[in-house]
Amino acid sequence: MQATWLSGKNCESVSCSDSLKTFYNYSCKVFGEKPTFIAELYFDIYTMSEQIERIKTLILGSGPAGYTAAIYAARADLKPVVYTGMEPGGQLTTTTEVDNFPGYPNGIDGPTMMVELQQQAERFGTEVRIGMATAVDFSDEAGGIHKVTIDDSKVVEAETVIISTGATAKYLNIPSEQRLRGGGVSACAVCDGFFYKGQDVAIVGGGDTAAEEASYLANICTKVTMLIRKDYMRASKAMQHRVESLPNIEIRFNTEVDEILGDQVVEGLRMVNNQTGEKEEIEITGFFVAIGHTPNTGIFKGQLEMDDTGYIITNGKSTKTTKPGVFASGDVQDKEYRQAVTAAGTGCMAALDAERYLATIEVAHTT
Ligand code: NDP
Repeated sequence: MQATWLSGKNCESVSCSDSLKTFYNYSCKVFGEKPTFIAELYFDIYTMSEQIERIKTLILGSGPAGYTAAIYAARADLKPVVYTGMEPGGQLTTTTEVDNFPGYPNGIDGPTMMVELQQQAERFGTEVRIGMATAVDFSDEAGGIHKVTIDDSKVVEAETVIISTGATAKYLNIPSEQRLRGGGVSACAVCDGFFYKGQDVAIVGGGDTAAEEASYLANICTKVTMLIRKDYMRASKAMQHRVESLPNIEIRFNTEVDEILGDQVVEGLRMVNNQTGEKEEIEITGFFVAIGHTPNTGIFKGQLEMDDTGYIITNGKSTKTTKPGVFASGDVQDKEYRQAVTAAGTGCMAALDAERYLATIEVAHTT
């Protein structure tokens, strides 16, 4: 195959098909020696088609929800492909010890757990690929094909899509906080609170999550200092009453973090009253950030129904989204529980929902 007629395009980098050669020879006869334009057009279509792949089940995200969906989908012979996203393994790779996932009597560290979940998914034939979904075009039709662009280049066409892209905890983004992440700074009290049993800790935030996590910490820790930047708490009244009723929670209104103290691990906190400018230092060993999460749903906007904070809405107890054949599991559709085990549970549900959906489509096609 001569590459010259491709006007510098790198034909050698792809294996030119027999049909391309035949087409080229035919075009030469009809249009003359160098049918550059048509050949280039065909080349573009050919190389583009190389970038398109059709599969049964595409899973976006590689946290507990995504891998559990993959285990179930692979065992159901849906031949799932998982795209890991930017943070392979998801949020658990940023935690140290996971002590509350059933089946690990001695606990397990987050990254190891995620590697093992991946291996379990691969054992049944899941294909795990590094890559990020950058655009989607979901079909409105039952039985329609959903198009997902990966890394702005490759298009995967899938009969079913399971979205498990998770949510990202918000941080204050001050240097001392970032430096001490994993050294006493955590965005999940339920995951990490236990390590501060009998110790003094602080938590920042005034919403339901902060109130719930402060109450959780109060059961374990000696004292919990709660920093709220306004002069009122945003949390629901019921949660406010709960926090106020616990004697070892000290609420500091109009108070913000000035700096978390400590070189390798958290040793203290310097707070600042945003009304008076007065600063105060306290000794703590754990610092919890509970200022909200951002669901990773940017690319699905306009395609799927979401609530006003961007979480994907699923139908009743199922994982069905507003598009047939598209399912959502894990933190991307759950702002209430947000646990690895609940994410895994909804991952299982999504795979079962996908399997049932495909069976219904097949029946519709054969009748
Ligand atoms: P929210 O957005 O409701 O609250 C975030 C809190 O963090 C607010 O008090 C906010 O302060 C504060 N905050 C934000 N940024 C900063 C900052 N840079 N410095 C200091 N404070 C900051 O998030 P939640 O995660 O609490 O809740 C999210 C949603 O989930 C809510 O709808 C909530 O009701 C729901 N939820 C329900 C639960 C349940 O029903 N059991 C449990 C947990 C959550 P400010 O008020 O000043 O903006």
